[in-house]
Amino acid sequence: MGADNFLVTGQVVEDVTTKLIQLAVTELPQDTKEALRRAYQQEQDSVGKSQLKTILDNLELAEKTCTPICQDTGFIIYYVKVGSKLEGLDQIEGALRNATIKATKEVPLRPNAVDPFSQSNSGNNTGMHSPYVHWEIVPGNTLEITVLPKGGGSENVSVLEMLNPNQGIAGLKKIVIDTVIKAGAKPCPPTILGIGIGGGADIAVNLAKESLLLPLNQSNPDLKVAKLEKELLEIANQTGIGPMGLGGKTTVLAVKIAYAQRHPASFPVAIIVQCWAARRASAKIYPNGKVEYLSHKVN
Ligand code: SF4
Repeated sequence: MGADNFLVTGQVVEDVTTKLIQLAVTELPQDTKEALRRAYQQEQDSVGKSQLKTILDNLELAEKTCTPICQDTGFIIYYVKVGSKLEGLDQIEGALRNATIKATKEVPLRPNAVDPFSQSNSGNNTGMHSPYVHWEIVPGNTLEITVLPKGGGSENVSVLEMLNPNQGIAGLKKIVIDTVIKAGAKPCPPTILGIGIGGGADIAVNLAKESLLLPLNQSNPDLKVAKLEKELLEIANQTGIGPMGLGGKTTVLAVKIAYAQRHPASFPVAIIVQCWAARRASAKIYPNGKVEYLSHKVN
């Protein structure tokens, strides 16, 4: 090991990741809680307001009792940023898997990994490509781990459309609003829409899902994208679907867009729908062993 390199041990990764899963499924990040509180204050429909109150009460209770905020604790997805100077990389994937098994038992998580051929549930949230890991190599010697436990109800109304390029942004707006209306109550609104534009089909879907990791209190630094996000949010909230689909102006909490260059013949648009249980948790492990939790306060 070089003098300024860092050997990551599987045990540290396993312990931090187990903690991250527990944090993610029992407590929403501060920015998401604030967005729900703001929506509650602004909602004028009495039924919609009472639904938001129930969601907020549920969040408070889950946090206090350290129990999952929803019975569907999601499909476990990891986003890992690995410092290029890091050593011990071969231990990371196994540690993420072990953490998934441990958290399934200890938190507990609902076993959500089913073999599509045999229909058998592994019982511990692992199996073929489960948990799923996205890798990114970054400069430096830290390891950043994010867990995204993704609920099935909201995932089921997500869409990928390969638009004709001449449909462009106008076509995208129509697809987004059609998706929100067609989804209705199914994704447990208020939702967050992660939208990926361009690239190929896989790139658009990846961008859309990764957008769900962005804090809700940060606006997009690209002004044309921020403008489109705002416009889509306003239109979606005119549908009247409301919290849990029971009416009101809070159908969508936030719209997050990411884009890539597109092929001249394609205009892919992916919309990944996230429910009010918009769970995510991140931590960074430093060379000296220090662990910084990025999404949650940890004493
Ligand atoms: S869509 Fe979200 S809030 Fe609704 S049941 Fe699934 S995980 Fe829970």
